[in-house]
Amino acid sequence: MKYAEIKNFIGGKYVSSSSNKTMDIISPLDGTLLSKVPLSNNEDLNIAVVAAQKAFETWSKTSIKERVQIFYRYRALLEKNMLELSQLVQEENGKTLDEARAEVEKSIELTEFACSLPQLIGGEILEVSKGVECRTDFCPIGVVASIVPFNFPSMVPNWTIPNALALGNTMILKPSEIVPLSSIKIAELLKEAGLPDGVLNIVNGDREIVEAICDHSGIEAVSFVGSTKIAKVVYARASASFKRVLALGGAKNHLIVLPDAHPTMTATNVTASMSGCAGQRCMAASAMVAVGNVDHIIEQICAEAKKVIPGENLGAVISQTAKERIENYITEAEAQGAKILVDGRNTIVKGKEKGTYVGPTVIDFVTPEMSVAKEEIFGPVISIMRAKTVDEALTIENNNQYGNAAAVFTQDGGMARYIIEHASAGMIGVNIGVPVPREPFSFGGWNDSKFGVGDLTGKSSIEFWTKLKKTTTKWNAQAKTNWMS
Ligand code: NAD
Repeated sequence: MKYAEIKNFIGGKYVSSSSNKTMDIISPLDGTLLSKVPLSNNEDLNIAVVAAQKAFETWSKTSIKERVQIFYRYRALLEKNMLELSQLVQEENGKTLDEARAEVEKSIELTEFACSLPQLIGGEILEVSKGVECRTDFCPIGVVASIVPFNFPSMVPNWTIPNALALGNTMILKPSEIVPLSSIKIAELLKEAGLPDGVLNIVNGDREIVEAICDHSGIEAVSFVGSTKIAKVVYARASASFKRVLALGGAKNHLIVLPDAHPTMTATNVTASMSGCAGQRCMAASAMVAVGNVDHIIEQICAEAKKVIPGENLGAVISQTAKERIENYITEAEAQGAKILVDGRNTIVKGKEKGTYVGPTVIDFVTPEMSVAKEEIFGPVISIMRAKTVDEALTIENNNQYGNAAAVFTQDGGMARYIIEHASAGMIGVNIGVPVPREPFSFGGWNDSKFGVGDLTGKSSIEFWTKLKKTTTKWNAQAKTNWMS
């Protein structure tokens, strides 16, 4: 085993779980046993909540300017530890080192946004009647929880930790049990940056601990990022115990390609979007709707896909189960009459035979009722559907249950505007295959890609992580009285 067995991180210390259940952490790159993670229970969560409640008493009373000083230092530590953090992400998740580094760079950008919060959360003040003023303050909520998925072991925890903590909350982080190593390193760096003990606590585990978080009366708010199936469970269960919840789910992102699209720009963007992070991004291009004759672009996409080499510029998928699921989708589409233009099945990387790789796959002549057209595949696979008109393409996009992202490739500004207006997705790209809004813009989809109000990052996160206090004040006894004073 490459690393020591993982423990929970509670009150600034490593704490063993009282459960004796563990799970192996296997690197998808080559099958190496990296570590073991505890599958914690209710008792472990109770200890973490008590630590977070105690820390909240002092943390919530420090000024935000003081709190963000820690995040300035954390940002510097992320930069200093860039290589180690990227290697950890690569090992546990299987993505390429460049992709892992990009993820840590994004974590830095997220931290920079948290450092800017004092500039953004000044409340309002107004003299509402003569001598009477009303002011608002954004106040911390209390102990909050953040439940995260496997596909971004560094970035997604950093979607929530810096903002929620800078705004005065204390947190229980529940990492994905598949990739728990990066979270521990994040907690260590925050401690080194001066974060007081108990402000960030990590409780590892699976379903049992997620359900316990949803039910715990000491937790005020829950953010979740993961599949739609579990997002629905968490949203319903945590709301039922009267918590504030924001649950981000899965995706099936459609790219609409028009005949006037710039061929090279489109082909490189589509390929990068479908194969980047081995297609395991909630923003990955998964379905392409070709409007009219775009065969020349499809040819170029195939040529680009052939330059994506597993084990070199294409990472592994998370597990053998994921590899089998993805390959089964491709086989089913082929059996239903779709044409496999580039086939990534049965990929083995020499010297890494125990790694779980799927090559880039381009499937043409997919029809909207096929599983590869409707369901999230979460692998480096693009399903191409054919449409005669833009409206037909939009109907295909609109009929999908998800609504995370959509993109259009065209050189016609009016047509792009029409598609922006009619696509049913929270994040839209024009000639961009992965339209992630960068800070200070917020991240969040529509439809079955998100449950709850507002978005999880950027300015929108301020409302989720705070409650508003409205204070009306009068000091001059001689002021004329009216109904309000
Ligand atoms: P997942 O839903 O399996 O797991 C997410 C979290 O839920 C993990 O912490 C896991 O321990 C927990 N969990 C798993 N099964 C559970 C159960 N039965 N009950 C309670 N908790 C459970 O997701 P994943 O496979 O880790 O991540 C991939 C998914 O996440 C994809 O669907 C992807 O689109 C989605 N995702 C969405 C976004 C977004 O912003 N919308 C971002 C990243 C990933």
